[in-house]
Amino acid sequence: MKQQKLRFFSSVHFKIALVFVLLLMISIQIIGAIFIRELESSTIQTFEENITSQVDSLATNLSNDLTKHQENPKENNLKRTLVEFAKSDILEARLVDDKGIVIATSDPNLQGDVGKKNDYESFNSFTQKKEERKDPVTGDRVYVNIQQVYSPTGNAVIGFLYVKSDIESKYRQVSDIALIFFYASMIALVFSLLIALLVARTITKPIGEMKQQAVRIANGDYSRQVEVYGKDELGQLGETFNELSARIEEAQETMDAERRRLDSVLSHMTDGVIGTDRRGNIILINETALTLLQVQMQDVLGESILSLLDIEDDYTFRALLEEQEEILIDFSEKIDEAMMLRAEFSMIRRESGFISGLVCVLHDVTEKEKDEEERRQFVSNVSHELRTPLTSMRSYIEALNDGAWQDPEVAPAFLKVTQEETNRMIRMINDLLQLSRMDANKIELKLELVNLNELFNYVIDRFDMLIKDSDKNYEIKREFTKRSIWVEIDTDRMIQVFDNILNNAMKYSPSGGTITCRLLETHKNVILSISDEGLGIPKQNLGKVFDRFYRVDKARSRAMGGSGLGLAISKESVKAHGGSIWVESEEDRGSTFFISLPYEPYEEDLWE
Ligand code: ADP
Repeated sequence: MKQQKLRFFSSVHFKIALVFVLLLMISIQIIGAIFIRELESSTIQTFEENITSQVDSLATNLSNDLTKHQENPKENNLKRTLVEFAKSDILEARLVDDKGIVIATSDPNLQGDVGKKNDYESFNSFTQKKEERKDPVTGDRVYVNIQQVYSPTGNAVIGFLYVKSDIESKYRQVSDIALIFFYASMIALVFSLLIALLVARTITKPIGEMKQQAVRIANGDYSRQVEVYGKDELGQLGETFNELSARIEEAQETMDAERRRLDSVLSHMTDGVIGTDRRGNIILINETALTLLQVQMQDVLGESILSLLDIEDDYTFRALLEEQEEILIDFSEKIDEAMMLRAEFSMIRRESGFISGLVCVLHDVTEKEKDEEERRQFVSNVSHELRTPLTSMRSYIEALNDGAWQDPEVAPAFLKVTQEETNRMIRMINDLLQLSRMDANKIELKLELVNLNELFNYVIDRFDMLIKDSDKNYEIKREFTKRSIWVEIDTDRMIQVFDNILNNAMKYSPSGGTITCRLLETHKNVILSISDEGLGIPKQNLGKVFDRFYRVDKARSRAMGGSGLGLAISKESVKAHGGSIWVESEEDRGSTFFISLPYEPYEEDLWE
């Protein structure tokens, strides 16, 4: 599994730390804001109250001095009083009389204003006042306090005390504190960020390890375990994770074993198995199916099963799913050899009812179908073969019955025909019985050690005699090996085989010619062959002459008294001896029948 690289800023590690720091920042912000506000308001309030009370008491104190000064202007302690008063935070204290004329000021630089009209403020508005203002010259905030000075009797305002104090420094003090607070909180933030990162790491480290273990599990590596760091939730999660990984490993092993078992079952099955997904595309196919359909695994995976089985013209995938029938597929054309397949379909359905695919099991029924076809053919052949002589016999018997029996001219001829037909039928039935006994393996060979040269000579001699007695112009040539060949055979059966082939050689050589009989040995076999110069067998029929009832030319064979079973019986006999029989032929030139029998040459030395 490919793992994406996690960037630090998108990691949980960073996010936890960020949340910590943000929380801290918000708390500090709120605390700071409230604190600074409270600090500022209380500082300013204290300052103002302090100044106000000082101004109030000064105004009271000035009452006598101002009265004295008004009575006797020379008597002037006022300036000194004001200068004494204007300490620390007081910027200026000035006294103005009830007509608006400056009497005294504490500021040495403004002594020129004394005796002049006060220009700070219009006299009308010169009334008791406490307020914060901006100094027009410096631009700083100042606290202005105007207090009326009453006559000692207290019933008349005789002047005004104007006090300007430095409130800006108080504000500055507060903002200095705020700045210190800001620095402190910055340091706190940095420390808490570090701590948060450390704390977050204790959480994310085990998580990270578990993630890596999950990736390893996904890649099939169960060898490692995650480390359990403690008994907390993460520790428990780690333990559970290790347990889970062990379970998955067990499950995986079980699954692997199951799959291997299934694979081996599938690959050793004699039936072909094809599995598809729900769209009918092949996802599984076993060796047998590949061999039967003669395809390669990589060519068919992902292909449609309909096209693989060559049934897309006759069926849709839905039809296969719904009907789930058994179908017989003739695959011979597609792979160029006889192949009949029976396909059984069954669909794979999940518990939820969802159809997840189809399984097709293929049976090779080529042999079975061939046997079945042969059986049908055989029954039809036997019926046909029996009907022909019976029909002709019936017509002769009917004729005899209708009075021909009294006719000394035709009656013997008719009876002769019925006798011949009866004999032919008996021969045929005997042949069939013999074949059926051979099929059922009921025939036991009476094996004896025979000199094959002598036996073959004996059979050919008989044919020579026959030829001599008839007017046929055949010549039989013998080309035998010099060595005597001793083999273990059932003499009667082999004579029957030789008879049959020699008979055919003459039957199917109407104009005579030379029949050459050869006997030769190879390392492990002895081969007999009988060649004629007759009609020969067309190439396309060569493979079939050993089939039951097969005759190249039916009419001719029947006319010659043949049943079409001679070669079939010969083949079975030779097969029973562990040998083989075959034919080579050229039409109109002649045929050669070969019989090969197993032979062990050392025995010959023994007998010689
Ligand atoms: P049948 O009784 O018809 O001779 P066989 O089984 O002996 O039956 O032979 C099957 C067919 O093979 C014959 O009908 C004939 O067409 C063909 N055949 C057999 N031997 C020869 C041969 N030597 N030359 C040509 N055709 C032959």
